[in-house]
Amino acid sequence: MHTLSALTKTLDRVYASRRISYEEALLLYAEADLIELGMAANARRQHLVPGNLVTYLIDRNVNYTNICVTDCQFCNFYALPGDTDKGYVLSKEELGRKIEEALALGATRILMQGGHHPDLPFDYYVDLVRWIHETYPQIEINAFSPSEIEHISTISGKSWEEVLTALKEAGLRGLPGGGGEILDDEIRKRVSPKKIRTDNWLGIMKVAHKLGLTTTATMVIGFREELTHRLNHLQRLRDTQDESLEKYGQGFNAFISWTVQIENTPLGRSRFRDEYGATAAEYLRHTAISRIFLDNIPTSRPPGPPKGSKWPRQPSTSGAMTSAPP
Ligand code: SF4
Repeated sequence: MHTLSALTKTLDRVYASRRISYEEALLLYAEADLIELGMAANARRQHLVPGNLVTYLIDRNVNYTNICVTDCQFCNFYALPGDTDKGYVLSKEELGRKIEEALALGATRILMQGGHHPDLPFDYYVDLVRWIHETYPQIEINAFSPSEIEHISTISGKSWEEVLTALKEAGLRGLPGGGGEILDDEIRKRVSPKKIRTDNWLGIMKVAHKLGLTTTATMVIGFREELTHRLNHLQRLRDTQDESLEKYGQGFNAFISWTVQIENTPLGRSRFRDEYGATAAEYLRHTAISRIFLDNIPTSRPPGPPKGSKWPRQPSTSGAMTSAPP
């Protein structure tokens, strides 16, 4: 049991805009009062972006295919190859219609993700991005989470960097942060044993940072994980961000977290189903801790950092935001 003074000391560090350690974050997560935690997180946010202005962009999520061979236990989206009732691969016409609908509503970006389709060749992905880029040059293309990049790399025999370079040349602007869930292999092996492992997820993001692609980091809670698993995830993100900012002058530009939804999934049918998920209060605690701990992910991205420069590194601030950059 920690003393009140240890808690107070840690909160003081937050208010003084100083980085907190893993152990301090664990203490706050486990023992701080929710309101106190929220106020401390907001103080960090105010330090980075004073005032109450919140920005957003309009984009559309498009899933180009739901065919997948990865069988994640929390997924009710995918269809196995050969499932002609549920499985689909969007045609360019269908995709174009969705993009036009989004443009008509003011969208400036599409976020495109899909299953791990075993039969789509490397050229399919490059051609798809090039076609969108040439047909709709006004829309920014964020596509293929690290797990898809790993899959494309596996089926093509190309390195992550070769895959990302080809996609970038075709018109890709960034990668969504999907497939992160909990970046701790103990949990990943249980809920998504065939999916990308932690080191590879982070490794692909580092290559994306090196190549100047826009990236976000995501997190899903509620897999019956411990607080330490959650903090392992946040620590790995913070370390990766430090490294990318140092080496490449850019890194993740947003952090987004949510709670797992298990309806109609294998987790929802398991004997532990009542233990999955997270309450609203737990989610708020998690958001506050993320905002405090991830002090190197900006809450908003300055428009176009000059080449080779670093984003403002305000050690006191936090980046746990659900908004995308303006
Ligand atoms: S990789 Fe994606 S689409 Fe495939 S099962 Fe997992 S979550 Fe679903």
